[in-house]
Amino acid sequence: MPLLSVETGLETLSAFKKTILSRLEKRGLSTVGDLLRHLPRSYEDYSVIHPVSGLMVGRLATIEGKVIRLSAGRTYRKQVFLTEAVIGDDTGEVRAIWFGNRFIAQTLREGLRIRLSGRVSEDGKGLLFKTPDYERASRTATHTARLIPVYPEIGGVSSRFFRWQIVELLEKVREIPDPVPEDILARLHLPSLRNALRYIHLPKNEEEWKLARKRFAFDEMFLFQLKALETKALYDTSSAVPISDTESPTDTFLARLPFKPTEAQRRAINDILKDLSLPQPMNRLLNGDVGSGKTLVAATAARATALAGYQAAILAPTEVLARQHWESLSGLFSDEPFTVALLTREYRYLGRDSASKASLAKAIEVGIPKIIVGTHAILQEGIRFHDLALVVVDEQHRFGVEQRAALQARASGLDDGLPEQVPHFLTMTATPIPRTLALAFFGDLALSVLDEMPAGRQPIETKIARNNADRALVYDFIRSEAGKGRQTFVILPLIEESEALEDVKSATAEAERLRTEIFPDLRVGLVHGRMKAKEKEEEMRKFRDCETDVLVATAVVEVGVDIPNATVMIIENADRFGLAQLHQFRGRIGRGNRKSYCFLFPGDGAVENVRLETLEKSTSGFEIAEADLALRGPGAFFGTRQSGLPDITMENLTNLRLVEIARAEAGDLLTADPTLLRHALLQEELRRFEEKIHLE
Ligand code: ADP
Ligand code: MG
Repeated sequence: MPLLSVETGLETLSAFKKTILSRLEKRGLSTVGDLLRHLPRSYEDYSVIHPVSGLMVGRLATIEGKVIRLSAGRTYRKQVFLTEAVIGDDTGEVRAIWFGNRFIAQTLREGLRIRLSGRVSEDGKGLLFKTPDYERASRTATHTARLIPVYPEIGGVSSRFFRWQIVELLEKVREIPDPVPEDILARLHLPSLRNALRYIHLPKNEEEWKLARKRFAFDEMFLFQLKALETKALYDTSSAVPISDTESPTDTFLARLPFKPTEAQRRAINDILKDLSLPQPMNRLLNGDVGSGKTLVAATAARATALAGYQAAILAPTEVLARQHWESLSGLFSDEPFTVALLTREYRYLGRDSASKASLAKAIEVGIPKIIVGTHAILQEGIRFHDLALVVVDEQHRFGVEQRAALQARASGLDDGLPEQVPHFLTMTATPIPRTLALAFFGDLALSVLDEMPAGRQPIETKIARNNADRALVYDFIRSEAGKGRQTFVILPLIEESEALEDVKSATAEAERLRTEIFPDLRVGLVHGRMKAKEKEEEMRKFRDCETDVLVATAVVEVGVDIPNATVMIIENADRFGLAQLHQFRGRIGRGNRKSYCFLFPGDGAVENVRLETLEKSTSGFEIAEADLALRGPGAFFGTRQSGLPDITMENLTNLRLVEIARAEAGDLLTADPTLLRHALLQEELRRFEEKIHLE
């Protein structure tokens, strides 16, 4: 076998047959290096060798002994190829069986000493191992008698296959170039890449794999920070159109509003107008609790841009929200001399008129609508703008780390007729991010915080329902509120971002249960993420028009619409979510000026309510965010699925120090070598990282 490098294609290795190759390829694993980076999900501890007489049903165990009898052949009834071995040590004998695999009978023979690891089960004839891992006792322990890595299976490629191959490749690869400079690793006491790979794939003990994970978490953070700083440098050196606020000043617009902007809104608006007036692109994060009035702030920025004669794009995460923004803006700007367009897959409007996609695209290209509201998809669909000068991204409850980077890259690459210039950029997030965390992650951008609610809002009263009696009381309360014409949200939060079929099923079942058993006298509606936008819209309309009393909803993002008449919310399985997230959910009520109530139902068997009590006590998103940070670490702010960061990083994000260190190291490195000219490997790694972010 020729010596391998990390770049060697897997197709050159004999163990990789066509079907396996194509499955791996689909997940982006095509070289030896890729495979080595396929990291274990967890470990099973088979490190202790048990005497056969001590085996217990249901437990994982490793034994070492001699093959006493071996038989192989097709079973009489099912015609499956079955291999059966009896293995004995000094204390007793036990059976092991394997199905379908002819290879086993060829490698085992009577008298051979083997080690065998697996879960002990039982049948009519006694204890047995079903399809255990095994290997010759004379071999170094790889599959048995140690911490065994468990790999995420990929389209039927088994964990065992990965284990075999990776262990072998690790030995054969000549060189594993390390993109992270040695001095950084030394300073942080992190292992080299080769060692980290060895520790993570073949750990001798827990310390080893933990250290390796720390190294990989650092890598991700480090790349992330390099990327952020590079973007910042790009921003610092690029130019943007300065937008002045002189035509028809924002103040006159604000004065015409039916309400008074909060002090926090005024501060944010001033920050933004100042940024916009400069010939450098703005790169600002607007962080404000749900209901703190971010839309108005974004609207003033878009208005100033439009009045200066340029275009502004406002991007929302869902069609429904895009439509809601468009409606609010159309209302706010009804007296202004410019047109607001809506462009999503389902809805297309030019001003108040519906438009075909082609005509709308054309109009945008020649600069007719000055404000274009849409979903994030706009940027992907290659819409050409006439003179785009501002991009506002409403992440809603997403933290949007990766999104921001990706969108920025894309926005700056837009064919906007201003080749040398990039648009000003404003991101809005409703996740109150503690300042420390925001700075660690987003130290590269300016931050405006809306930490004040518009006047007249009643704080939401929050209670934990601790038992069935509480639940019954809550249901009674909902009925009495309904009697007063008020409405209720029942939130069944999703675990996965993409709505799994099971979640839809359980939401449907819950709606049915409420309809028939609990509230036969009320009208119960249902929205979930698998519904078409039109159906969702219709359900939301019914709720808004008070045609339903109770709305069961899965993805809360779908109910981003304002329903001032909804005064009650139930959140089921509340214990499974971060405080910040729960706070988001409850922000959907209390939007009118009536008192609102949120009831948290912990899932069955949840004991930990201390965390939830924070929500009973506080209504400030920022206070809650600080509590969440203290309780769960920064990971709490990144729903795994939502962050785009790999799980391994998530896990290690409990360590804010690591984020800070990564940032400092990235800063130092870029100061010394701004274009990474002397760190070619790192540069390559960074490009790969960017690609990965873009894909997600
Ligand atoms: P969010 O920050 O969650 O996006 P919105 O911008 O949707 O909040 O504002 C929530 C509601 O509060 C809207 O109905 C909006 O018109 C209203 N609002 C915004 N600012 C004020 C204010 N200063 N005084 C009163 N109501 C306001
Ligand atoms: Mg909003």
